[in-house]
Amino acid sequence: MRCNHCTDAPCVEICPVEALYFRPDGIVDFDNRRCIGCKSCMQACPYDALYIDPANHTAAKCNYCAHRIDIGLEPACVNVCPEHAIISGDMNDPDTEIAQLLAREQVSVRKAAKGTVPNLYYIDGDEASLNPMATEKGGDYFWSAQTRGVGHYAKFTEKLAFSEGDLVQAAMEKNGQHTTAGQVAQNGAAKSIDILMGKTQRVYDAPDKGVLWGWEVSAYVLTKAIAAGAFLLPAIALLTGLAEVSYQTWMTGLVLGLVFLLATGLLLVKDLDRPDRFLNVLLRPQWRSWLVRGGYSITIFGGILALLAVAGWFGWSQVTIIGGIIGIIMAVIVAVYTAFLFAQARGRDFWQSPSLALHMLIHSFMAGGAALAIAGLWLDNGIDWPAYLRNLLLIALSFNLLTLLVELSITHPTEEAKRTVHSILKGRYRNLFWGGAVVLGNLLPLAFLFVGAADPTMLALTGVLILAGIYATEHIWVEAPQRIPLS
Ligand code: SF4
Ligand code: SF4
Repeated sequence: MRCNHCTDAPCVEICPVEALYFRPDGIVDFDNRRCIGCKSCMQACPYDALYIDPANHTAAKCNYCAHRIDIGLEPACVNVCPEHAIISGDMNDPDTEIAQLLAREQVSVRKAAKGTVPNLYYIDGDEASLNPMATEKGGDYFWSAQTRGVGHYAKFTEKLAFSEGDLVQAAMEKNGQHTTAGQVAQNGAAKSIDILMGKTQRVYDAPDKGVLWGWEVSAYVLTKAIAAGAFLLPAIALLTGLAEVSYQTWMTGLVLGLVFLLATGLLLVKDLDRPDRFLNVLLRPQWRSWLVRGGYSITIFGGILALLAVAGWFGWSQVTIIGGIIGIIMAVIVAVYTAFLFAQARGRDFWQSPSLALHMLIHSFMAGGAALAIAGLWLDNGIDWPAYLRNLLLIALSFNLLTLLVELSITHPTEEAKRTVHSILKGRYRNLFWGGAVVLGNLLPLAFLFVGAADPTMLALTGVLILAGIYATEHIWVEAPQRIPLS
């Protein structure tokens, strides 16, 4: 669980406010006065080294006791370990004990394939201890029920007593299954037999931090898609002449864009553990973070939508054309930037998919089209607008099914990604995926669009189904990878 002080630290890259940063000596340090509690670093760190400090609701982690290093002391863990099992020092100085051990011993690092270049080495490290995929998670053991608390150590942690007897008692209470001491003993015995038979069993591990990004993040991906798409569809029609865009439709697209952008911002702030510091994203930006780039893109896009609404109201056609072109570029960025943010979360293999940006762009066309189809019930649309909307939705739905197929059927290189795909297709999320995302959100709308042609009521009904399907998909895409333990 200790920080590896990675040379290429994804937590530093993703942190939007420079709360995590490199010191000149290579220590990855942390300043909790800047942290907004976005939990991005916890998604980015492949080693589960960060947690939310329940006292001040900011992220926290081992900082190699930087304050002690500064005055010539060793980290506290090195100091207190009675077996000298933890060795620290300057690896680049050949005279240090650590440099000599590294030269002499067989050492390993955790998850080398992640490319983070960790600076923590294990002598004779056991695969079962270093790799969370090497043992099955399940059954009763200490910490096995630590799933509550959404990204935080559950309250149970505070309850942890000082004796082993108290731990057993607390574990039984937490499980809430009226487990008796006898049952715990039985489970323990079964595990011991497994171990004797050569099958490694997990009996004690790190607390599970649960789902770090919950419904707020799935909902914000949806509202962001609606905001971008509700502008993109009329703007493309207007600039290309593909369909007549009535004044009402144009203004409705702009208003929908603004309202759903506002909802996106509110959801983003709500998801922070320190919402009072949300302005730090804009005022103390760390530009490599896609959270910052996204925050600025949303702000600029909102400004353009507001300007276009004013221009529409006063009939400034030149502003509408120039603003419309810039708006299209910003809408595309707003639609896809989350894919790059997810890709920066290097702890989650499934989010590293190269087609995620395309997936999000297609969703924005679907979501914007769906919202405009519903609003169309009350609007005075252009004559060929319903047909344009229907054709675009047909194309977007077809591409969406194709992208889903590609994303789930390509060969996933890691065990974590394979398990996520399995949980979507055949495991925990199978009903929501097949029933909600595929049938309700894609196949039924496709059938309705074929049967109902461009009938406004049918279009609106299709729109409702599409929005429900996108939410189901995003919920799965956001949550399922987080079910795979990092440690
Ligand atoms: S990625 Fe994790 S282990 Fe590496 S420096 Fe960041 S917090 Fe530490
Ligand atoms: S601001 Fe976000 S990414 Fe940075 S340390 Fe805090 S929780 Fe982690």
